[in-house]
Amino acid sequence: MSDCLFCKIAAGEIPSTCLYDDENVYAFRDINPQAPVHFLVIPKQHIDSVAAVSAENSAAVARCFEVIAKVAEQEGLENGYRVISNCGADGGQTVHHLHFHVLGGKPLGEKIL
Ligand code: AMP
Ligand code: ZN
Repeated sequence: MSDCLFCKIAAGEIPSTCLYDDENVYAFRDINPQAPVHFLVIPKQHIDSVAAVSAENSAAVARCFEVIAKVAEQEGLENGYRVISNCGADGGQTVHHLHFHVLGGKPLGEKIL
């Protein structure tokens, strides 16, 4: 999608702090971290949100989760971490390209997730 922030980040057209990059998946630090470690994992293929995941594109989601595990280990999150994907208006999604927040580096507590 030509007007999508995360498509542009994945294509290297907008700078980001890359943590992982391959043909299908890109991971980078969130610009406004909500925990000592906070990165985003996105499929390079544009998918609007969790609501748009289907049998046709779900392999991209599986690949994202492989990368989540890999980068979490790279970032030293051996005590655990939280994965969040905001979906739609009520979910608080602000960037309409599927992304997984990975948060960790401290105990995150039991509330809202
Ligand atoms: P959401 O609210 O779930 O759609 O999350 C969007 C996330 O993207 C927020 O946590 C933002 O801080 C993050 N974000 C927005 N612009 C950038 C950027 N240029 N580089 C890195 N993270 C960004
Ligand atoms: Zn996109």
